[in-house]
Amino acid sequence: MAEADDCIFCKIGRGEIPSQRVHEDGRCFAFEDINPKAPTHILICPREHVASLAEAEAGDEANLGHLLAVAARLARERGLDSYRAVVNTGPGAGQTVFHLHVHLLGGRSMKWPPG
Ligand code: AMP
Ligand code: ZN
Repeated sequence: MAEADDCIFCKIGRGEIPSQRVHEDGRCFAFEDINPKAPTHILICPREHVASLAEAEAGDEANLGHLLAVAARLARERGLDSYRAVVNTGPGAGQTVFHLHVHLLGGRSMKWPPG
């Protein structure tokens, strides 16, 4: 399975960097964001290194769907009836870590459109 040696989220996935893990399975792992922007702020990452949604290919579709299904499950477990699942893609959209991840944000009211 493709992982990147120098990628911070691959290192978290391998347990080389500590994290507050809240879920893991064969396809993905999820952990608390170190700088939370909401009372619930979890990052859900595919185990396979894909730099961003823009780099995802047809073979990644099952993983992509799984990330959203896990986001919904974690939101349900936390009793969130309103939440956001966000994939920042590219520097102009605020992506800072280039290993695809879904932000699960909840526990406060949110504005639309996002800034
Ligand atoms: P993005 O800006 O969409 O690429 O999101 C990257 C997220 O990763 C940010 O919300 C950071 O706070 C978070 N982050 C960066 N390093 C760590 C880390 N070591 N553990 C947990 N979250 C992290
Ligand atoms: Zn990675």
